[in-house]
Amino acid sequence: MMESPMLFWLTFYLLFFLASSLVGYYKNQTVAGVLLGYVFGPIGLLLLLMSSDKRRGKCKHCGSMVDKHAYYCPKCKNKCFKQLI
Ligand SMILES: [Zn+2]
Repeated sequence: MMESPMLFWLTFYLLFFLASSLVGYYKNQTVAGVLLGYVFGPIGLLLLLMSSDKRRGKCKHCGSMVDKHAYYCPKCKNKCFKQLI
């Protein structure tokens, strides 16, 4: 139901704004996601997708990607992180 090109671009922009906010939320970078999506739109979303995931880190024992909130590695059962950062 696009009545005018203006409305189309507004919806287009809003979609990318929402998408980047969501990606930011999942990467634990909500503020960065919202700001990037707001300022850069589609480019902000791309930047965010390329940025590192702050929620996960490498287990120093087996090298697998582990959620930083997990105290023990689910793969090798070793202690992964001394403290939550
Ligand atoms: Zn491990």
